[in-house]
Amino acid sequence: MAEVRPLTPSDLSPLTGPAHPPLLTSHTVGSALARAADLLEAAGVPDARREADELYAAIVGRATSAAWLEREQPSTEALRVRLDAAVRHRAQGWPQAYAAGRANFRGHWLTVDRRVLIPRPETEGLVEVVLEWLRAAGGRRGAEGGSVVADIGTGSGAIAVALALESPAGRIIATDRSAGALAVARANVAEHGVASRVELCRGHLLAPLGNGRVDVVVSNPPYVATGEWERLEPGVRTFEPREALDGGPDGLGAIREIVVSSRAVLNDGGLLALEVDAPRAGRVAELAAEAGFNSCTILHDLFGRPRYVRAWRPSDGSD
Ligand code: SAM
Ligand code: GLN
Repeated sequence: MAEVRPLTPSDLSPLTGPAHPPLLTSHTVGSALARAADLLEAAGVPDARREADELYAAIVGRATSAAWLEREQPSTEALRVRLDAAVRHRAQGWPQAYAAGRANFRGHWLTVDRRVLIPRPETEGLVEVVLEWLRAAGGRRGAEGGSVVADIGTGSGAIAVALALESPAGRIIATDRSAGALAVARANVAEHGVASRVELCRGHLLAPLGNGRVDVVVSNPPYVATGEWERLEPGVRTFEPREALDGGPDGLGAIREIVVSSRAVLNDGGLLALEVDAPRAGRVAELAAEAGFNSCTILHDLFGRPRYVRAWRPSDGSD
């Protein structure tokens, strides 16, 4: 897929014409959002008022209620330009996060564009699995810091940034084979002030780790089977990067490799935490057991579906 760079003001042509006066003439946040809602409604976007408020919230990086609470404030040129682009793209059918250029992950606002998967709520739970292990590891050591975490296929950097912000885990190595994804991740790492703890590396799965050892391997790899990708909902299939989703003929291509490579790079007692497709969770847990992991457990996501496989590298000192 051709790379799509982030929006800049120079991408924008104004919304003009008698039927659609430009947002750029609105003087308050409230009037800009009323105009945005009209334009979205005219384009057939359902629940247009709420959409406009959510686009505003994403652009300013606050809760949706900010649209109401800030309605009397003057609308700045920068806001009108961003809102104008968001409305036009949403009206053309872009997913909301790509239209706004921002997605919320565990309360952190991340920059996203079409080079990265939009972070999913399921993945927020994967971060929880890792945080739980880091807390317990901190208890064992007497301090939580000092662990090294590898986030394989970091995309927007969602998992790496959340872990860096929410845990004192010493260092996070985040890999991706997509240069475009790493550029987005770099922007998010910088924006959240965690560049000193998150190292971004380009390469195939765990290859960038070389001979280094880590305490945790976490990954939300591509896990949709190729035949299923063709049947994904059009919003996902049309807009999101296929290389982030397509896990090969049986959906397990990347997972098989990650499981085997993780066994080699994890320290004794280290954690493997994977997000997986619900129908194949059992198979992934078997793969982990076959690779020599202990306590291979399937955990459920917020929708009650089998979604995570958690396993420990045995503390037997063997390679
Ligand atoms: N971690 C992010 C998240 O959870 O939102 C993105 C996950 S997305 C499902 C999978 C990511 O893995 C994509 O960014 C894709 O570029 C990357 N990827 C796919 N195959 C890869 C490979 N062989 N080596 C490295 N990265 C890969
Ligand atoms: N849950 C994603 C979806 O919307 C798939 C993510 C993945 O392949 N890791 O289909």
